[in-house]
Amino acid sequence: MISRAEPTPPENGTSSSPNANSPLAANVGIDGLIPVRMLNEYSYCPRLAYLEFVQGEWAENLETLEGTFGHRNVDKPDRKQIPARSKSNSKAAKSEETEEEGPTSIHARSLTLSSEQEGLIAKLDLLEIEGETITPVDYKRGKVPDLPEGAYEPERVQICAQGLILRDNGYHCTEGVIYYIASKRRVVIPFDDELIARTRELVRLFRETAISEICPPPLEDSPKCNRCSLVGICLPDETNLLIDQQQLTHERSQLPVKPDGLRKLLPARQNALPLYVQHQGAFVGKSGDRITIKLKGEELSSVRLLDISQVCVFGNVMFSAQAIQQLTNRGISICHLTYGGWFHSMTSGLLHKNIELRIRQYQTAAQANEALQISRQFIAGKIKNCRTLLRRHLSEKEHPVLRQLNEYHRRALRAESAETLLGLEGMAAKEYFAAFFTLLPDQPEFDVDGRNRRPPRDPVNAVLSFLYSLLTKELTVALQSTGFDPMLGFLHRPRYGRPSLALDLAEEFRPLIADSVALTVFNNQEVSPDSFLHKAGAVTMTDAGRKSVIAAYERRLDTEITHPIFGYKVSYRRILEVQSRLLARHLLGELAEYPSFLTR
Ligand code: SF4
Repeated sequence: MISRAEPTPPENGTSSSPNANSPLAANVGIDGLIPVRMLNEYSYCPRLAYLEFVQGEWAENLETLEGTFGHRNVDKPDRKQIPARSKSNSKAAKSEETEEEGPTSIHARSLTLSSEQEGLIAKLDLLEIEGETITPVDYKRGKVPDLPEGAYEPERVQICAQGLILRDNGYHCTEGVIYYIASKRRVVIPFDDELIARTRELVRLFRETAISEICPPPLEDSPKCNRCSLVGICLPDETNLLIDQQQLTHERSQLPVKPDGLRKLLPARQNALPLYVQHQGAFVGKSGDRITIKLKGEELSSVRLLDISQVCVFGNVMFSAQAIQQLTNRGISICHLTYGGWFHSMTSGLLHKNIELRIRQYQTAAQANEALQISRQFIAGKIKNCRTLLRRHLSEKEHPVLRQLNEYHRRALRAESAETLLGLEGMAAKEYFAAFFTLLPDQPEFDVDGRNRRPPRDPVNAVLSFLYSLLTKELTVALQSTGFDPMLGFLHRPRYGRPSLALDLAEEFRPLIADSVALTVFNNQEVSPDSFLHKAGAVTMTDAGRKSVIAAYERRLDTEITHPIFGYKVSYRRILEVQSRLLARHLLGELAEYPSFLTR
Protein backbone atom coordinates (compact mmCIF):
# COMPACT_ATOMS: atom_id res chain seq x y z
CA MET A 1 0.00 0.00 0.00
CA ILE A 2 1.09 3.55 -0.67
CA SER A 3 1.09 5.64 2.48
CA ARG A 4 -0.90 8.83 2.61
CA ALA A 5 2.28 10.80 2.51
CA GLU A 6 2.98 9.23 -0.86
CA PRO A 7 2.61 11.46 -3.90
CA THR A 8 0.92 10.04 -6.95
CA PRO A 9 3.48 9.05 -9.55
CA PRO A 10 3.97 11.47 -12.39
CA GLU A 11 1.90 10.66 -15.41
CA ASN A 12 4.96 10.99 -17.59
CA GLY A 13 3.19 12.56 -20.51
CA THR A 14 -0.11 12.86 -22.12
CA SER A 15 -0.12 10.94 -25.35
CA SER A 16 -0.36 7.22 -25.97
CA SER A 17 2.62 6.83 -28.28
CA PRO A 18 5.86 6.02 -26.42
CA ASN A 19 7.92 8.03 -28.86
CA ALA A 20 5.68 11.05 -28.64
CA ASN A 21 5.63 10.79 -24.86
CA SER A 22 9.36 10.69 -24.50
CA PRO A 23 10.54 13.91 -22.91
CA LEU A 24 13.44 14.19 -25.29
CA ALA A 25 11.18 13.66 -28.29
CA ALA A 26 9.01 16.49 -27.05
CA ASN A 27 11.81 18.86 -26.15
CA VAL A 28 14.75 18.21 -28.40
CA GLY A 29 16.13 21.44 -29.74
CA ILE A 30 14.80 23.61 -26.91
CA ASP A 31 18.21 24.17 -25.43
CA GLY A 32 18.36 25.01 -21.78
CA LEU A 33 14.60 24.98 -21.11
CA ILE A 34 13.35 22.41 -18.64
CA PRO A 35 9.90 20.88 -19.20
CA VAL A 36 7.88 21.57 -16.05
CA ARG A 37 6.82 17.91 -16.02
CA MET A 38 10.45 17.15 -15.16
CA LEU A 39 10.13 19.19 -11.96
CA ASN A 40 7.20 17.00 -10.97
CA GLU A 41 9.30 13.91 -11.64
CA TYR A 42 12.41 15.30 -9.97
CA SER A 43 10.41 16.06 -6.85
CA TYR A 44 8.97 12.51 -6.95
CA CYS A 45 12.37 10.90 -7.54
CA PRO A 46 15.53 12.56 -8.95
CA ARG A 47 16.56 9.30 -10.63
CA LEU A 48 13.28 9.11 -12.51
CA ALA A 49 13.79 12.61 -13.94
CA TYR A 50 17.38 11.76 -14.94
CA LEU A 51 16.42 8.47 -16.61
CA GLU A 52 13.70 10.19 -18.60
CA PHE A 53 15.35 13.48 -19.48
CA VAL A 54 19.01 12.57 -19.87
CA GLN A 55 18.81 8.91 -20.87
CA GLY A 56 15.57 9.16 -22.86
CA GLU A 57 13.97 6.20 -21.12
CA TRP A 58 10.25 5.65 -21.32
CA ALA A 59 7.84 2.92 -20.30
CA GLU A 60 4.11 2.71 -19.89
CA ASN A 61 2.29 1.35 -16.87
CA LEU A 62 -1.31 1.47 -15.72
CA GLU A 63 -0.86 4.93 -14.22
CA THR A 64 0.61 6.46 -17.38
CA LEU A 65 -2.09 4.87 -19.56
CA GLU A 66 -4.82 6.16 -17.24
CA GLY A 67 -3.17 9.58 -17.29
CA THR A 68 -3.17 9.55 -21.10
CA PHE A 69 -6.82 8.59 -21.14
CA GLY A 70 -7.75 11.25 -18.57
CA HIS A 71 -5.99 13.92 -20.62
CA ARG A 72 -7.65 13.04 -23.91
CA ASN A 73 -9.89 16.11 -23.93
CA VAL A 74 -7.37 18.71 -22.81
CA ASP A 75 -4.77 17.32 -25.19
CA LYS A 76 -6.76 18.52 -28.18
CA PRO A 77 -5.55 22.03 -28.98
CA ASP A 78 -8.38 24.45 -29.76
CA ARG A 79 -8.33 27.52 -31.99
CA LYS A 80 -9.32 30.06 -29.36
CA GLN A 81 -7.47 33.36 -29.42
CA ILE A 82 -5.59 34.10 -26.20
CA PRO A 83 -4.99 37.75 -25.39
CA ALA A 84 -1.26 38.40 -25.56
CA ARG A 85 0.45 40.42 -22.82
CA SER A 86 3.65 42.36 -22.92
CA LYS A 87 5.94 41.93 -19.95
CA SER A 88 6.34 45.66 -19.49
CA ASN A 89 2.74 46.68 -19.74
CA SER A 90 0.32 43.83 -19.75
CA LYS A 91 -2.80 45.98 -19.69
CA ALA A 92 -1.81 48.00 -22.71
CA ALA A 93 -1.05 44.97 -24.77
CA LYS A 94 -4.48 43.47 -25.20
CA SER A 95 -5.10 42.19 -28.68
CA GLU A 96 -7.65 44.00 -30.79
CA GLU A 97 -9.90 41.02 -30.70
CA THR A 98 -9.98 40.99 -26.91
CA GLU A 99 -10.66 44.68 -26.75
CA GLU A 100 -13.71 44.04 -28.88
CA GLU A 101 -14.80 41.05 -26.80
CA GLY A 102 -14.25 42.76 -23.45
CA PRO A 103 -13.18 41.05 -20.22
CA THR A 104 -15.11 37.84 -20.73
CA SER A 105 -14.18 34.35 -19.59
CA ILE A 106 -12.04 32.36 -22.05
CA HIS A 107 -10.90 28.74 -21.87
CA ALA A 108 -7.92 27.58 -23.90
CA ARG A 109 -6.57 24.03 -24.08
CA SER A 110 -3.23 22.38 -24.72
CA LEU A 111 -1.04 25.42 -25.10
CA THR A 112 2.76 25.38 -25.08
CA LEU A 113 4.49 28.35 -23.43
CA SER A 114 8.02 28.98 -22.23
CA SER A 115 10.00 31.40 -20.11
CA GLU A 116 13.67 32.10 -20.79
CA GLN A 117 13.97 33.86 -17.45
CA GLU A 118 12.66 30.91 -15.45
CA GLY A 119 14.33 28.41 -17.81
CA LEU A 120 11.09 26.49 -18.19
CA ILE A 121 8.73 25.26 -20.87
CA ALA A 122 5.30 23.74 -20.37
CA LYS A 123 2.40 22.27 -22.20
CA LEU A 124 -0.55 23.66 -20.26
CA ASP A 125 -3.65 21.49 -20.09
CA LEU A 126 -6.15 24.33 -19.69
CA LEU A 127 -6.08 28.09 -19.14
CA GLU A 128 -8.97 29.97 -17.61
CA ILE A 129 -8.90 33.68 -18.37
CA GLU A 130 -11.11 36.09 -16.48
CA GLY A 131 -10.41 39.67 -17.47
CA GLU A 132 -6.85 40.38 -16.41
CA THR A 133 -6.37 37.19 -14.47
CA ILE A 134 -5.25 33.87 -15.90
CA THR A 135 -5.35 30.55 -14.04
CA PRO A 136 -3.62 27.37 -15.24
CA VAL A 137 -5.56 24.14 -14.66
CA ASP A 138 -3.62 20.88 -14.56
CA TYR A 139 -5.47 17.56 -14.95
CA LYS A 140 -4.43 14.69 -12.69
CA ARG A 141 -5.66 11.17 -13.01
CA GLY A 142 -6.15 10.28 -9.30
CA LYS A 143 -8.27 11.38 -6.34
CA VAL A 144 -7.82 14.50 -4.22
CA PRO A 145 -5.26 13.65 -1.53
CA ASP A 146 -6.16 14.30 2.08
CA LEU A 147 -3.43 16.86 2.75
CA PRO A 148 -3.46 20.36 4.27
CA GLU A 149 -1.58 21.66 1.22
CA GLY A 150 -4.31 20.26 -1.05
CA ALA A 151 -1.88 18.30 -3.27
CA TYR A 152 1.47 16.50 -3.13
CA GLU A 153 4.62 18.50 -3.72
CA PRO A 154 5.34 17.21 -7.27
CA GLU A 155 1.90 18.40 -8.40
CA ARG A 156 2.08 21.75 -6.58
CA VAL A 157 5.52 22.45 -8.00
CA GLN A 158 4.39 21.58 -11.50
CA ILE A 159 1.40 23.96 -11.40
CA CYS A 160 3.49 26.68 -9.77
CA ALA A 161 6.08 26.38 -12.56
CA GLN A 162 3.26 26.90 -15.07
CA GLY A 163 2.24 30.02 -13.14
CA LEU A 164 5.81 31.35 -13.24
CA ILE A 165 5.88 30.91 -17.02
CA LEU A 166 2.58 32.74 -17.38
CA ARG A 167 3.80 35.58 -15.17
CA ASP A 168 6.96 35.92 -17.22
CA ASN A 169 4.75 36.16 -20.30
CA GLY A 170 3.04 39.17 -18.77
CA TYR A 171 -0.08 37.60 -17.29
CA HIS A 172 -1.54 38.20 -13.85
CA CYS A 173 -1.42 34.80 -12.23
CA THR A 174 -1.58 34.21 -8.48
CA GLU A 175 -2.89 30.67 -8.22
CA GLY A 176 -3.39 27.48 -10.17
CA VAL A 177 -5.92 24.67 -10.09
CA ILE A 178 -5.33 20.93 -10.01
CA TYR A 179 -8.33 19.02 -11.30
CA TYR A 180 -8.46 15.45 -9.95
CA ILE A 181 -10.24 13.37 -12.54
CA ALA A 182 -11.19 10.46 -10.26
CA SER A 183 -12.77 12.82 -7.66
CA LYS A 184 -14.04 15.32 -10.29
CA ARG A 185 -12.83 18.05 -7.91
CA ARG A 186 -10.73 21.17 -8.27
CA VAL A 187 -8.05 22.08 -5.74
CA VAL A 188 -6.77 25.64 -5.74
CA ILE A 189 -3.01 26.03 -5.20
CA PRO A 190 -1.97 29.59 -4.22
CA PHE A 191 1.46 30.60 -5.52
CA ASP A 192 2.91 31.79 -2.21
CA ASP A 193 6.53 32.76 -1.64
CA GLU A 194 7.42 29.40 -0.12
CA LEU A 195 6.10 27.40 -3.10
CA ILE A 196 7.74 29.73 -5.59
CA ALA A 197 11.10 29.42 -3.78
CA ARG A 198 10.82 25.63 -3.71
CA THR A 199 9.93 25.52 -7.41
CA ARG A 200 12.94 27.64 -8.34
CA GLU A 201 15.18 25.55 -6.10
CA LEU A 202 14.03 22.39 -7.91
CA VAL A 203 14.77 24.02 -11.28
CA ARG A 204 18.31 24.68 -10.07
CA LEU A 205 18.77 21.18 -8.61
CA PHE A 206 17.36 19.50 -11.69
CA ARG A 207 19.65 21.50 -13.96
CA GLU A 208 22.70 20.56 -11.85
CA THR A 209 21.73 16.89 -11.88
CA ALA A 210 21.05 16.82 -15.62
CA ILE A 211 24.47 18.20 -16.49
CA SER A 212 26.34 16.17 -13.86
CA GLU A 213 26.29 13.00 -16.02
CA ILE A 214 25.74 11.05 -12.79
CA CYS A 215 22.46 9.26 -12.45
CA PRO A 216 21.06 9.79 -8.93
CA PRO A 217 21.02 6.55 -6.90
CA PRO A 218 17.84 4.47 -6.69
CA LEU A 219 15.49 5.16 -3.78
CA GLU A 220 15.90 2.70 -0.91
CA ASP A 221 12.94 0.45 -0.24
CA SER A 222 10.58 3.20 -1.31
CA PRO A 223 6.87 2.55 -1.93
CA LYS A 224 7.15 5.07 -4.78
CA CYS A 225 8.93 2.42 -6.86
CA ASN A 226 5.85 0.18 -6.80
CA ARG A 227 4.03 2.69 -8.95
CA CYS A 228 6.89 4.01 -11.04
CA SER A 229 6.60 3.15 -14.73
CA LEU A 230 10.40 2.93 -15.05
CA VAL A 231 10.84 0.30 -12.35
CA GLY A 232 11.83 -2.39 -14.89
CA ILE A 233 14.46 -0.07 -16.33
CA CYS A 234 15.73 1.46 -13.08
CA LEU A 235 15.90 -1.85 -11.15
CA PRO A 236 16.04 0.01 -7.80
CA ASP A 237 16.23 -2.88 -5.33
CA GLU A 238 18.41 -5.02 -7.59
CA THR A 239 20.89 -2.17 -8.13
CA ASN A 240 21.03 -1.30 -4.42
CA LEU A 241 21.61 -4.95 -3.50
CA LEU A 242 24.42 -5.36 -6.04
CA ILE A 243 26.08 -2.11 -4.96
CA ASP A 244 26.07 -3.34 -1.33
CA GLN A 245 27.32 -6.80 -2.24
CA GLN A 246 30.06 -5.56 -4.53
CA GLN A 247 31.33 -3.37 -1.74
CA LEU A 248 31.60 -6.48 0.41
CA THR A 249 33.40 -8.73 -2.03
CA HIS A 250 34.95 -8.86 -5.45
CA GLU A 251 34.37 -12.59 -5.73
CA ARG A 252 31.20 -13.10 -7.76
CA SER A 253 30.91 -16.71 -6.72
CA GLN A 254 30.84 -15.72 -3.05
CA LEU A 255 28.02 -13.22 -3.36
CA PRO A 256 25.29 -14.16 -0.91
CA VAL A 257 21.74 -14.59 -2.12
CA LYS A 258 19.25 -12.22 -0.53
CA PRO A 259 17.77 -14.67 2.00
CA ASP A 260 14.14 -13.61 1.80
CA GLY A 261 14.27 -12.33 -1.78
CA LEU A 262 13.81 -8.77 -2.99
CA ARG A 263 10.48 -7.07 -3.44
CA LYS A 264 9.11 -8.28 -6.73
CA LEU A 265 8.71 -4.97 -8.49
CA LEU A 266 9.49 -6.48 -11.88
CA PRO A 267 6.76 -8.54 -13.56
CA ALA A 268 8.08 -12.13 -13.85
CA ARG A 269 7.03 -12.42 -17.47
CA GLN A 270 6.50 -10.13 -20.40
CA ASN A 271 2.98 -10.24 -21.79
CA ALA A 272 4.01 -9.51 -25.37
CA LEU A 273 5.78 -12.35 -27.22
CA PRO A 274 7.73 -12.77 -30.49
CA LEU A 275 5.76 -13.46 -33.66
CA TYR A 276 7.49 -15.88 -36.06
CA VAL A 277 6.72 -15.92 -39.80
CA GLN A 278 8.37 -18.65 -41.83
CA HIS A 279 5.97 -19.12 -44.79
CA GLN A 280 7.92 -18.24 -47.92
CA GLY A 281 6.12 -15.51 -49.87
CA ALA A 282 3.96 -14.50 -46.86
CA PHE A 283 2.72 -10.92 -46.63
CA VAL A 284 2.65 -9.11 -43.28
CA GLY A 285 0.12 -6.26 -43.15
CA LYS A 286 -1.82 -4.20 -40.64
CA SER A 287 -5.54 -4.16 -40.11
CA GLY A 288 -6.79 -1.92 -37.31
CA ASP A 289 -4.76 -2.74 -34.21
CA ARG A 290 -3.71 -6.15 -35.53
CA ILE A 291 -0.88 -7.53 -37.61
CA THR A 292 -2.11 -9.92 -40.28
CA ILE A 293 -0.18 -12.65 -42.10
CA LYS A 294 -1.46 -13.63 -45.53
CA LEU A 295 -0.33 -16.13 -48.13
CA LYS A 296 -1.63 -15.78 -51.71
CA GLY A 297 -4.40 -13.49 -50.43
CA GLU A 298 -5.58 -15.92 -47.77
CA GLU A 299 -5.24 -14.83 -44.14
CA LEU A 300 -3.18 -17.33 -42.14
CA SER A 301 -3.39 -15.52 -38.81
CA SER A 302 -3.71 -12.15 -37.14
CA VAL A 303 -2.27 -10.97 -33.82
CA ARG A 304 -2.94 -7.85 -31.74
CA LEU A 305 -0.05 -5.38 -31.87
CA LEU A 306 -0.22 -5.23 -28.08
CA ASP A 307 0.71 -8.91 -27.87
CA ILE A 308 3.82 -8.70 -30.07
CA SER A 309 7.30 -8.05 -28.65
CA GLN A 310 9.21 -8.59 -31.93
CA VAL A 311 8.54 -10.05 -35.37
CA CYS A 312 10.98 -12.70 -36.64
CA VAL A 313 10.84 -13.52 -40.34
CA PHE A 314 12.68 -16.30 -42.16
CA GLY A 315 13.67 -15.81 -45.80
CA ASN A 316 11.28 -14.27 -48.29
CA VAL A 317 8.55 -12.42 -46.35
CA MET A 318 7.05 -9.07 -47.43
CA PHE A 319 5.70 -6.21 -45.31
CA SER A 320 3.28 -3.36 -45.96
CA ALA A 321 4.54 0.16 -45.23
CA GLN A 322 1.76 0.56 -42.63
CA ALA A 323 2.83 -2.59 -40.80
CA ILE A 324 6.48 -1.46 -40.70
CA GLN A 325 5.44 2.00 -39.52
CA GLN A 326 3.21 0.70 -36.71
CA LEU A 327 5.72 -1.86 -35.54
CA THR A 328 8.69 0.51 -35.47
CA ASN A 329 6.61 3.33 -33.90
CA ARG A 330 5.75 1.00 -31.07
CA GLY A 331 9.36 -0.04 -30.57
CA ILE A 332 8.74 -3.56 -31.96
CA SER A 333 11.77 -4.74 -33.92
CA ILE A 334 11.53 -6.85 -37.07
CA CYS A 335 14.31 -9.48 -37.01
CA HIS A 336 15.32 -10.88 -40.38
CA LEU A 337 16.78 -14.38 -40.56
CA THR A 338 17.76 -16.32 -43.67
CA TYR A 339 15.56 -19.25 -44.65
CA GLY A 340 18.11 -21.47 -42.90
CA GLY A 341 17.85 -19.44 -39.68
CA TRP A 342 20.93 -17.19 -39.83
CA PHE A 343 20.16 -13.86 -38.11
CA HIS A 344 21.41 -11.11 -40.43
CA SER A 345 19.54 -7.82 -39.92
CA MET A 346 16.91 -5.91 -38.05
CA THR A 347 14.37 -3.22 -38.88
CA SER A 348 13.67 -0.89 -35.98
CA GLY A 349 12.77 2.72 -35.19
CA LEU A 350 15.24 5.49 -34.51
CA LEU A 351 18.19 4.74 -32.26
CA HIS A 352 17.49 4.74 -28.52
CA LYS A 353 17.97 8.20 -27.04
CA ASN A 354 20.46 7.06 -24.40
CA ILE A 355 23.52 8.44 -26.16
CA GLU A 356 25.26 8.69 -22.77
CA LEU A 357 25.37 4.89 -22.63
CA ARG A 358 26.68 4.48 -26.18
CA ILE A 359 29.46 7.02 -25.57
CA ARG A 360 30.49 5.04 -22.49
CA GLN A 361 30.29 1.79 -24.46
CA TYR A 362 32.63 3.13 -27.16
CA GLN A 363 35.05 4.48 -24.53
CA THR A 364 35.09 1.18 -22.64
CA ALA A 365 35.61 -0.89 -25.78
CA ALA A 366 38.64 1.27 -26.59
CA GLN A 367 40.18 0.61 -23.14
CA ALA A 368 41.77 -2.86 -23.26
CA ASN A 369 41.73 -3.31 -19.47
CA GLU A 370 38.12 -2.28 -18.99
CA ALA A 371 37.00 -4.43 -21.93
CA LEU A 372 38.95 -7.37 -20.49
CA GLN A 373 37.35 -6.98 -17.07
CA ILE A 374 33.87 -7.36 -18.61
CA SER A 375 34.95 -10.13 -21.00
CA ARG A 376 36.22 -12.18 -18.05
CA GLN A 377 32.70 -12.16 -16.60
CA PHE A 378 31.16 -13.28 -19.90
CA ILE A 379 33.56 -16.21 -20.30
CA ALA A 380 33.82 -17.21 -16.65
CA GLY A 381 30.01 -17.12 -16.51
CA LYS A 382 29.78 -19.29 -19.60
CA ILE A 383 32.22 -21.90 -18.26
CA LYS A 384 30.44 -22.01 -14.90
CA ASN A 385 27.04 -22.45 -16.57
CA CYS A 386 28.44 -25.17 -18.88
CA ARG A 387 29.61 -26.96 -15.76
CA THR A 388 26.18 -26.57 -14.13
CA LEU A 389 24.44 -28.06 -17.18
CA LEU A 390 26.78 -31.07 -17.20
CA ARG A 391 26.55 -31.51 -13.43
CA ARG A 392 22.77 -31.76 -13.70
CA HIS A 393 22.90 -34.45 -16.39
CA LEU A 394 26.05 -36.50 -15.79
CA SER A 395 25.45 -39.61 -13.74
CA GLU A 396 28.99 -39.49 -12.38
CA LYS A 397 29.04 -36.42 -10.11
CA GLU A 398 32.83 -36.54 -9.71
CA HIS A 399 33.38 -36.59 -13.48
CA PRO A 400 36.83 -35.19 -14.36
CA VAL A 401 35.27 -32.69 -16.79
CA LEU A 402 33.52 -30.96 -13.86
CA ARG A 403 36.82 -30.50 -12.06
CA GLN A 404 38.46 -29.31 -15.25
CA LEU A 405 35.73 -26.73 -15.95
CA ASN A 406 36.06 -25.45 -12.39
CA GLU A 407 39.72 -24.90 -13.03
CA TYR A 408 39.08 -23.08 -16.36
CA HIS A 409 36.48 -20.90 -14.60
CA ARG A 410 38.95 -19.93 -11.92
CA ARG A 411 41.64 -19.09 -14.49
CA ALA A 412 39.19 -17.14 -16.68
CA LEU A 413 38.39 -14.81 -13.78
CA ARG A 414 42.11 -13.95 -13.59
CA ALA A 415 43.04 -13.98 -17.29
CA GLU A 416 45.47 -11.17 -18.01
CA SER A 417 44.76 -10.75 -21.70
CA ALA A 418 41.95 -11.27 -24.19
CA GLU A 419 44.10 -13.90 -25.96
CA THR A 420 44.49 -15.92 -22.76
CA LEU A 421 40.78 -15.64 -22.12
CA LEU A 422 39.88 -16.84 -25.61
CA GLY A 423 42.38 -19.71 -25.25
CA LEU A 424 40.74 -20.80 -22.00
CA GLU A 425 37.29 -20.50 -23.58
CA GLY A 426 38.39 -22.70 -26.48
CA MET A 427 39.84 -25.40 -24.20
CA ALA A 428 36.79 -25.36 -21.95
CA ALA A 429 34.42 -25.58 -24.96
CA LYS A 430 36.29 -28.62 -26.32
CA GLU A 431 35.96 -30.55 -23.07
CA TYR A 432 32.42 -29.38 -22.49
CA PHE A 433 31.13 -30.43 -25.92
CA ALA A 434 32.84 -33.82 -25.69
CA ALA A 435 30.79 -34.47 -22.54
CA PHE A 436 27.68 -32.67 -23.82
CA PHE A 437 27.37 -34.88 -26.92
CA THR A 438 27.31 -37.98 -24.72
CA LEU A 439 24.03 -36.70 -23.23
CA LEU A 440 22.25 -36.98 -26.61
CA PRO A 441 20.31 -40.08 -27.75
CA ASP A 442 22.45 -42.92 -28.96
CA GLN A 443 21.06 -42.95 -32.53
CA PRO A 444 23.21 -43.27 -35.66
CA GLU A 445 21.14 -40.54 -37.40
CA PHE A 446 22.23 -38.10 -34.71
CA ASP A 447 25.93 -39.01 -34.62
CA VAL A 448 28.08 -35.94 -34.04
CA ASP A 449 31.57 -35.26 -35.26
CA GLY A 450 32.45 -32.64 -32.67
CA ARG A 451 31.14 -29.08 -32.77
CA ASN A 452 31.01 -27.89 -36.40
CA ARG A 453 29.23 -25.05 -38.20
CA ARG A 454 28.97 -22.96 -41.39
CA PRO A 455 27.41 -25.12 -42.56
CA PRO A 456 26.56 -27.60 -39.81
CA ARG A 457 27.33 -31.15 -40.91
CA ASP A 458 24.91 -33.06 -38.67
CA PRO A 459 21.44 -32.51 -37.13
CA VAL A 460 22.75 -31.75 -33.63
CA ASN A 461 25.05 -29.01 -34.88
CA ALA A 462 22.26 -27.68 -37.14
CA VAL A 463 20.00 -27.29 -34.09
CA LEU A 464 22.77 -25.77 -31.96
CA SER A 465 23.68 -23.21 -34.65
CA PHE A 466 20.03 -22.28 -35.12
CA LEU A 467 19.51 -21.84 -31.37
CA TYR A 468 22.65 -19.70 -31.04
CA SER A 469 21.30 -17.55 -33.85
CA LEU A 470 17.94 -17.12 -32.07
CA LEU A 471 19.73 -16.23 -28.83
CA THR A 472 21.90 -13.66 -30.60
CA LYS A 473 18.78 -12.17 -32.16
CA GLU A 474 17.09 -12.00 -28.72
CA LEU A 475 20.06 -10.23 -27.16
CA THR A 476 20.46 -7.84 -30.10
CA VAL A 477 16.90 -6.67 -29.49
CA ALA A 478 17.42 -6.45 -25.70
CA LEU A 479 20.69 -4.52 -26.03
CA GLN A 480 19.32 -2.11 -28.60
CA SER A 481 16.27 -1.36 -26.50
CA THR A 482 18.54 -0.68 -23.52
CA GLY A 483 20.42 1.92 -25.57
CA PHE A 484 23.54 -0.05 -26.57
CA ASP A 485 25.06 -0.36 -30.00
CA PRO A 486 24.83 -4.17 -30.39
CA MET A 487 27.56 -4.11 -33.07
CA LEU A 488 30.40 -3.15 -30.76
CA GLY A 489 31.47 -5.79 -28.26
CA PHE A 490 34.16 -6.11 -25.62
CA LEU A 491 35.22 -9.69 -26.30
CA HIS A 492 34.17 -10.35 -29.91
CA ARG A 493 36.07 -8.19 -32.35
CA PRO A 494 33.96 -5.81 -34.43
CA ARG A 495 33.22 -7.27 -37.84
CA TYR A 496 30.92 -5.94 -40.56
CA GLY A 497 27.34 -6.99 -39.88
CA ARG A 498 28.14 -8.94 -36.71
CA PRO A 499 26.31 -8.02 -33.48
CA SER A 500 29.46 -8.47 -31.39
CA LEU A 501 27.99 -7.23 -28.10
CA ALA A 502 25.03 -9.60 -28.45
CA LEU A 503 27.51 -12.43 -29.04
CA ASP A 504 29.41 -11.36 -25.91
CA LEU A 505 26.32 -11.41 -23.74
CA ALA A 506 25.13 -14.66 -25.33
CA GLU A 507 28.16 -16.51 -23.92
CA GLU A 508 26.78 -16.98 -20.41
CA PHE A 509 23.35 -17.97 -21.76
CA ARG A 510 24.39 -20.51 -24.40
CA PRO A 511 24.45 -23.50 -22.04
CA LEU A 512 21.43 -22.33 -20.04
CA ILE A 513 19.15 -21.65 -22.99
CA ALA A 514 20.44 -22.94 -26.34
CA ASP A 515 22.26 -26.13 -25.25
CA SER A 516 19.52 -26.98 -22.80
CA VAL A 517 16.85 -26.66 -25.53
CA ALA A 518 18.95 -28.83 -27.87
CA LEU A 519 19.07 -31.60 -25.26
CA THR A 520 15.31 -31.30 -24.75
CA VAL A 521 14.30 -31.52 -28.41
CA PHE A 522 16.51 -34.56 -29.10
CA ASN A 523 15.89 -36.44 -25.87
CA ASN A 524 12.12 -35.78 -25.87
CA GLN A 525 11.94 -36.71 -29.57
CA GLU A 526 10.50 -33.32 -30.48
CA VAL A 527 12.68 -33.65 -33.57
CA SER A 528 13.29 -36.84 -35.55
CA PRO A 529 15.55 -37.71 -38.48
CA ASP A 530 12.66 -36.49 -40.71
CA SER A 531 13.11 -32.98 -39.28
CA PHE A 532 16.36 -32.53 -41.23
CA LEU A 533 17.45 -32.16 -44.84
CA HIS A 534 20.91 -33.34 -45.95
CA LYS A 535 22.42 -31.49 -48.90
CA ALA A 536 25.97 -32.02 -50.11
CA GLY A 537 27.30 -32.67 -46.61
CA ALA A 538 25.39 -29.75 -45.04
CA VAL A 539 22.36 -30.25 -42.81
CA THR A 540 19.38 -27.89 -42.44
CA MET A 541 16.02 -28.20 -40.74
CA THR A 542 12.67 -28.67 -42.44
CA ASP A 543 9.93 -26.10 -41.72
CA ALA A 544 8.32 -28.54 -39.29
CA GLY A 545 11.64 -29.26 -37.58
CA ARG A 546 12.36 -25.55 -37.20
CA LYS A 547 8.87 -24.99 -35.81
CA SER A 548 9.45 -27.63 -33.11
CA VAL A 549 12.79 -26.10 -32.14
CA ILE A 550 11.30 -22.58 -32.01
CA ALA A 551 8.46 -23.85 -29.79
CA ALA A 552 10.95 -25.47 -27.38
CA TYR A 553 13.13 -22.34 -27.39
CA GLU A 554 10.17 -20.07 -26.61
CA ARG A 555 9.09 -22.44 -23.82
CA ARG A 556 12.57 -22.21 -22.36
CA LEU A 557 12.52 -18.40 -22.44
CA ASP A 558 9.19 -18.48 -20.62
CA THR A 559 10.49 -20.82 -17.92
CA GLU A 560 10.50 -19.12 -14.54
CA ILE A 561 13.46 -19.77 -12.28
CA THR A 562 14.46 -18.33 -8.93
CA HIS A 563 16.98 -15.61 -9.56
CA PRO A 564 20.25 -16.69 -7.92
CA ILE A 565 20.98 -13.24 -6.46
CA PHE A 566 17.65 -11.46 -6.19
CA GLY A 567 15.72 -14.45 -4.87
CA TYR A 568 12.47 -13.92 -6.79
CA LYS A 569 11.01 -15.94 -9.63
CA VAL A 570 11.57 -14.56 -13.09
CA SER A 571 11.52 -15.90 -16.66
CA TYR A 572 14.65 -16.34 -18.77
CA ARG A 573 13.14 -13.86 -21.23
CA ARG A 574 13.10 -11.21 -18.49
CA ILE A 575 16.56 -12.23 -17.26
CA LEU A 576 18.06 -11.45 -20.70
CA GLU A 577 16.68 -7.92 -20.44
CA VAL A 578 17.83 -7.51 -16.82
CA GLN A 579 21.39 -8.62 -17.69
CA SER A 580 21.48 -6.06 -20.49
CA ARG A 581 20.42 -3.36 -18.03
CA LEU A 582 22.96 -4.50 -15.41
CA LEU A 583 25.68 -4.25 -18.06
CA ALA A 584 24.52 -0.67 -18.68
CA ARG A 585 24.59 0.03 -14.91
CA HIS A 586 28.20 -1.15 -14.83
CA LEU A 587 29.27 0.94 -17.83
CA LEU A 588 27.62 4.04 -16.39
CA GLY A 589 29.57 3.59 -13.17
CA GLU A 590 26.81 2.47 -10.83
CA LEU A 591 28.07 -1.10 -10.40
CA ALA A 592 31.75 -1.84 -9.83
CA GLU A 593 31.53 -4.94 -12.01
CA TYR A 594 29.17 -6.63 -14.41
CA PRO A 595 27.57 -9.59 -12.61
CA SER A 596 27.25 -12.49 -15.05
CA PHE A 597 24.17 -14.65 -14.63
CA LEU A 598 24.99 -17.94 -12.90
CA THR A 599 22.56 -20.70 -12.05
CA ARG A 600 23.08 -23.22 -9.32
S1 SF4 B 1 11.87 2.84 -9.65
FE1 SF4 B 1 12.02 4.01 -7.76
S2 SF4 B 1 14.16 4.73 -7.70
FE2 SF4 B 1 13.72 4.05 -9.78
S3 SF4 B 1 13.14 5.88 -10.89
FE3 SF4 B 1 11.26 4.94 -10.18
S4 SF4 B 1 10.83 5.86 -8.20
FE4 SF4 B 1 12.94 6.33 -8.69
